Amino acid sequence: MMDVIKQMKRITTILLVFLAISCHAQKGIAITIDDVPNTKNYIRNNNQNVLFEKLDTLNVPYTIFVNEGLLYKNGSLENNLSLLKQWCADERVTVGNHTFSHGRYSELDIGPFVMDIIKGQIHIGKYMGDSIRYFRFPYNDLGKDSIQHTRVNKALDSLNYNVTPFTIESSDWMFNAVYLHYLDQGDTAKANSVGNQYVSKTIELLHFYESLSSNQHQRSVHQIYLCHDNALNQMYLPIIIQHLKKNDYQIISLQQVLTDPIYNQKDNYHKKWGISWFYRWMSTKEERYHWMTLEPDFSEIETEFEKITKHNKT
Ligand SMILES: [Zn+2]
Repeated sequence: MMDVIKQMKRITTILLVFLAISCHAQKGIAITIDDVPNTKNYIRNNNQNVLFEKLDTLNVPYTIFVNEGLLYKNGSLENNLSLLKQWCADERVTVGNHTFSHGRYSELDIGPFVMDIIKGQIHIGKYMGDSIRYFRFPYNDLGKDSIQHTRVNKALDSLNYNVTPFTIESSDWMFNAVYLHYLDQGDTAKANSVGNQYVSKTIELLHFYESLSSNQHQRSVHQIYLCHDNALNQMYLPIIIQHLKKNDYQIISLQQVLTDPIYNQKDNYHKKWGISWFYRWMSTKEERYHWMTLEPDFSEIETEFEKITKHNKT
């Protein structure tokens, strides 16, 4: 009798593993957008968020991380609040907290940091009640050491927040700075070329993480893309999404990605740098370092960004 029970258990386990693998056979990715609302950018667009309007047209789910401090930046608080209310009510949009003022946790004490989280949920809390669940650290800085990490995790638990991971980010903020520089100079051709470079580098990086995922986890793990509310994404994120769809990716919600138990793995990285969760799940720094050296080369945009930053300072 015991043998039959054992056999049944084994069959059930095999079936569950098979089910988990087949659920993840299709490639999936969630879009997450930080530093919302970029109200300075909205001024150019009649106080609207053209990026979100385009995503709505594409009918894809997306998650936004709000810094409520940004609501006060363009002198149109009423308009910004009405947009925020709209996003909170939209079923396709998941709204998360990204603190009020976007400070680096490793440079702050726990008290002021937690205060900034609470201050960052005043309006979204009003519109969403208890349903705010997701928190993303500014710069993905989870603290300078394991003591800081543990301390903040406890505080976030008591506030009912989940720390939101990401697997891929392709320095869109850097491409955006160079893109805007050329637009300001009236050089549309160069701005467009930067935009196209952003698209191709993002896809190259995604392929890199797919190969890392197959190597480390023997399957395609559903990914979380991190980018920002900016002029570059307004033009080029829809192009990236179209490309992904054509290449058999499903654009899925953050909630759906996080159902994969892989995301419950231990974070073994206790420094302040905002690295991908694929690296945080690795158990040694040597392994992390090995994979980081295999990442696609971003030196072209980095050099341009440095040149422009220096130029703007002088
Ligand atoms: Zn941010």
